[in-house]
Amino acid sequence: MTPFIYKQLTQALARTLGTPQYLILFLSDFCWMKCRHCWFNEDWKTANLGKPTLTFDEIEKLAHSMKRVLFLSLTGGEAFTRPDLVEIVKVFSRETKMSRYQIPTSGFKTDLIISKTGQMLKNHPEIPFRVDVSLDGTEAIHEKIRSVAGGHRRALDTIRALNGLKRHHRNFDVGVITTVSHDNQHEIPQIGRLVESVNPNGEWMVNIVRGAVRDPNAHNVEIDSYLAAHKLIRDRVESGAYRGHSGHATASWLSAKNATRRKIIRKRLEGRCRGGGCAAGSLGGVIYSDGTVQACEMLDQSLGNLRDYDCDLAALWNSPAADKVRRWIQDTRCQCTQECFLSISMLIQPQHWPDIIAERLRLARGAAVRPTAAH
Ligand code: SF4
Ligand code: SF4
Repeated sequence: MTPFIYKQLTQALARTLGTPQYLILFLSDFCWMKCRHCWFNEDWKTANLGKPTLTFDEIEKLAHSMKRVLFLSLTGGEAFTRPDLVEIVKVFSRETKMSRYQIPTSGFKTDLIISKTGQMLKNHPEIPFRVDVSLDGTEAIHEKIRSVAGGHRRALDTIRALNGLKRHHRNFDVGVITTVSHDNQHEIPQIGRLVESVNPNGEWMVNIVRGAVRDPNAHNVEIDSYLAAHKLIRDRVESGAYRGHSGHATASWLSAKNATRRKIIRKRLEGRCRGGGCAAGSLGGVIYSDGTVQACEMLDQSLGNLRDYDCDLAALWNSPAADKVRRWIQDTRCQCTQECFLSISMLIQPQHWPDIIAERLRLARGAAVRPTAAH
């Protein structure tokens, strides 16, 4: 489709839906880790976060301004450090029709994470929920990347404990995220085996380093190393050893979408994509801890600050400033490898739909040859 059509489509979606249906909400700037591949580092925070963190009351107003959110990602920093995390999820569940929510974590404080996850599962037994734990290597490399001793063992403990919860909650899923960077690119097979052993019944999401990161050398990645992870996942799918996402009726479609997304990222890294049709700013959006609203995490343009709209996201999302950013995204055929926004963009890019269906069938064939999970 042309930029003109995408401009009309994304503007119509933003107007009709009123607020982003895929929302990444930064709840805290604090993090237990100091990852070399992290763009959410001290320099970025000093340059970009001008106001204090949103209070609980402000988040309640924000939730109140949203009729529905299909997917809410509560992040940071580390969202689990937020003392009112459980209450915040309650607010979104009460004020909006929230279809799914997810929290990424380094997994560093196992007891805290398990306790809060358990409370959220108890409070919302019907809402699909996923916790994704980062695992960036075997012990030495993981801790070199994350600069915190003991982080590897604790991440593994957290993944195992979360899987313990998963056995008792059908709406709950556990994922593992690996960010491929200069430091871990040569141990992808070892990471693959580790993920398979510690999280055999879940999705392995492999991202590539992006943004102005703490250690610029992290960007020196050979594409082949990153693609090696894609091949490992593909081999597991084809042998029937890969279970992927679970916890709700459309979970397998998410795994199929991720497979197609890996192919798109490969094309982009190899310079074989024209770009265009990004749904950031229409279907998806980001709110930083100080209330700044952006189309995505990669662009500098702000749509405004929630506090200037009395925390009414619908008013901000339908402002002239937001319209301008939406037009810019389509006019420039903006493109990147940001996994979250690629996911929602695929919803409005029909050229990818046949491949998603083919990947879904591939997963179904894998499921047909493997034994039932020992749940
Ligand atoms: S990448 Fe995530 S876990 Fe690592 S320092 Fe940044 S926010 Fe923290
Ligand atoms: S292509 Fe990437 S950088 Fe551009 S608007 Fe979309 S998510 Fe943001």
